[in-house]
Amino acid sequence: MDRLTDELTATTAPDMTALTFPFTLPQSPAEPVDVAPGVKWLRLPMPFALDHINVYLLRVERGWLILDTGLDSSRSRAIWEEVFAGALSGETVVGVISTHYHVDHVGLAGYLTDRWRVPLYMSYQEYFTLSGWPKELKKVPWQHAEFYRKVGFPEDQVDKSLVIFDFGGEISQLPPSFIRLQGGRPLPVAGADWLVLTGEGHAPEHVMLYSARQGILISGDQLLPRISSNVSVTVVNPEDEPLSRWLASLDRLAELPEDTLVFPGHGLPFRGIQTRVEELRNHHQHQLQVVLDACAEQSLSTYEITQVMYPYPLNDFDLQLAMGECLAHLHYLVSQGRLQGTQDQQGIVRYETA
Ligand SMILES: [Zn+2]
Repeated sequence: MDRLTDELTATTAPDMTALTFPFTLPQSPAEPVDVAPGVKWLRLPMPFALDHINVYLLRVERGWLILDTGLDSSRSRAIWEEVFAGALSGETVVGVISTHYHVDHVGLAGYLTDRWRVPLYMSYQEYFTLSGWPKELKKVPWQHAEFYRKVGFPEDQVDKSLVIFDFGGEISQLPPSFIRLQGGRPLPVAGADWLVLTGEGHAPEHVMLYSARQGILISGDQLLPRISSNVSVTVVNPEDEPLSRWLASLDRLAELPEDTLVFPGHGLPFRGIQTRVEELRNHHQHQLQVVLDACAEQSLSTYEITQVMYPYPLNDFDLQLAMGECLAHLHYLVSQGRLQGTQDQQGIVRYETA
């Protein structure tokens, strides 16, 4: 995993027989698979542990919408050009949708919207989170240094945290305007039969598309079949408590019919939405218990608890995601009055049972 993206490879241990996977992998990245009337599936490569992203093409009145873009790389651009010359030959692209602000989902939005001179569709919070995200920081700002002191991060490692702001090469220029998508409203494109849904916790206002008529949900990273999406407190918003919003979003997804066909941002399309929601709830309950057990013995810093939750070597980037995920669980437990955090004399916050 790398850069400002999402899934920690912390996998749950799902009972794979409970989910069904009606499609096999596409033969090649540039050959879209028809997965429903007016819906094509493409799988673009990524040079990380998470080695691909799913993107979708949606038929509307005047052409096709692209949903999620892949990273900006010469390889991704070449695949898109192959798709335009091949599967979409003679067709028109009329817009680009990014489900959320992470680079794998928005990396080529600038390139593709310029290429076709079409609008970018995003939710308000996703567009402005990306616009305002610190870019290419060369030096750790004092606010961030303060954050790393509180979590108990080794002082001599703090400079390495800048890795999470180093993603310039994987994203093309964000278009200077966008069309806002809002949860609960129809997708504002002629001939589109999709309802916009939004979820929180992985990203601030993550867009999903739902067709009740076709029984299809395009879920982005709000619901993945195998890995649990990263639910993280970031250094940019250090007091945040995203886990309760994530769990509330799961509750809303569980209201959709169990036989809904889910097209995720990573992994295979699947059926079994309620089963998957239940697995993810269990995963977070398990993680919360790991944190509680660790803090029952002695008071610990976030950095120390992270090592209990993820007891294996992590690269600099994954460590940031892991620590963010750890903080999300800590802040949730504090908000419920089950843990308390106290700053010690070095300024490190230590957590213990309340
Ligand atoms: Zn993703």
